[in-house]
Amino acid sequence: MDRFESLCKTKGLRMTHQRIEVFRELAKYPGHPTVEAVFKKVRRKIKTISLDTVYRTITTFEDLGFIKRIHILDNSARYDTNLTAHHHLICTNCKAIKDFYWPEFDKMKPHKAISGWGRVDIKHVVISGLCSNCKKKR
Ligand SMILES: [Zn+2]
Ligand SMILES: [Zn+2]
Repeated sequence: MDRFESLCKTKGLRMTHQRIEVFRELAKYPGHPTVEAVFKKVRRKIKTISLDTVYRTITTFEDLGFIKRIHILDNSARYDTNLTAHHHLICTNCKAIKDFYWPEFDKMKPHKAISGWGRVDIKHVVISGLCSNCKKKR
């Protein structure tokens, strides 16, 4: 939460109770939550909060660069509080998304086909399959 406080200070965002709770849940949630998932958690603490408020709060965080939106599974936007360069492991069964680091890949020169294509802004690796928990259950 110290990070949230300093982010708010640098961006001039007022720290409200609602914003604090939304950010806390975003940061705590394992596996990159959806807006709905954050809403369900925050509602336990703030009974009067609406899905729309949580949605708008998360959009504000995204606009200010506090969090990143990732689109990897189906169409639902998931949010990532980890802003350092990283990649994702996705379980197609339980839909959990885990971060992983691959510094060798990050340093790798783009393949000829890519440099001929245009300008690369994002290099993001997505590995999908069955996580070990789901694999065990099958
Ligand atoms: Zn799984
Ligand atoms: Zn991530």
